Amino acid sequence: MTWTFPTSRISHDGAGTVALETCHRVSDYTAVARRRGQVFWTSSQLPDGATALDVHCPECAADRGLTVSGTWGAPAELTCLCGHSWTPRLPGLLPEQLLRQLIRLAADGPIKAIRYHLIKVDAADTHPTPLHDAVRPLVADAGRELHRRAWIFSDDETRVASDLLTQAGLRAYWSPEALEALARQTRTEEEQLARVVDMYRALAERSRWTGNRLGRFLAQATAVLKPIKVLTMDGLEPGPTWSGVSPVLEDARSALGAVHVILAAGATGDVDY
Ligand SMILES: [Zn+2]
Repeated sequence: MTWTFPTSRISHDGAGTVALETCHRVSDYTAVARRRGQVFWTSSQLPDGATALDVHCPECAADRGLTVSGTWGAPAELTCLCGHSWTPRLPGLLPEQLLRQLIRLAADGPIKAIRYHLIKVDAADTHPTPLHDAVRPLVADAGRELHRRAWIFSDDETRVASDLLTQAGLRAYWSPEALEALARQTRTEEEQLARVVDMYRALAERSRWTGNRLGRFLAQATAVLKPIKVLTMDGLEPGPTWSGVSPVLEDARSALGAVHVILAAGATGDVDY
């Protein structure tokens, strides 16, 4: 079991939306002010006008203090205080969707970094970054070739690389105004995911009809980054990251970023990084 956390109350509207109420001990969050017995509640809301139906134990009808357990993408298992365990079937919601929704609601707590540590059983594990790790050797090789001037971008390669960077919304030089606009921009995780998938598709598309050294680099990179193509919101398990986005998305972003660094270096001739 990867995630496990006690709840105060789980309710749903009978149409696929769940709300979660949880009780927190203050001492879990502050190391200094450890006043015994101090608690606070967090809760999410059902849509306006919805009737709140409480999830309850099929054996003893308990609807408070249910513990949620499960691994990301698997069905939720609930356990009541008497120790009965079951997988709830709610209308309009698959059991694995229920787990994902409850985890998202629970992980959206007040102090995320500590909350993950409390509700994710294997939170101590370092987060693997499979995509960035997979693309790293290719990027290192390409970077070395550029640095030694063993690979100098042709006009055609420069044009393709510039196109790809522009398409990805990247530029070699940022004006103060552009930087300011960038800082103001806030994207939802969904928008960021769509952007990452678009960037991947653009690279894969170009690799198909670019035959030179750049074409080979793009083909190799997009082959190892293929999992990005099928990333969906469902796959984005929450976790502690510096940026606050899912570790899976963060990994995909940094892997693509590494490829873009090569494109920018080759296209600008600035290869002494
Ligand atoms: Zn029970």
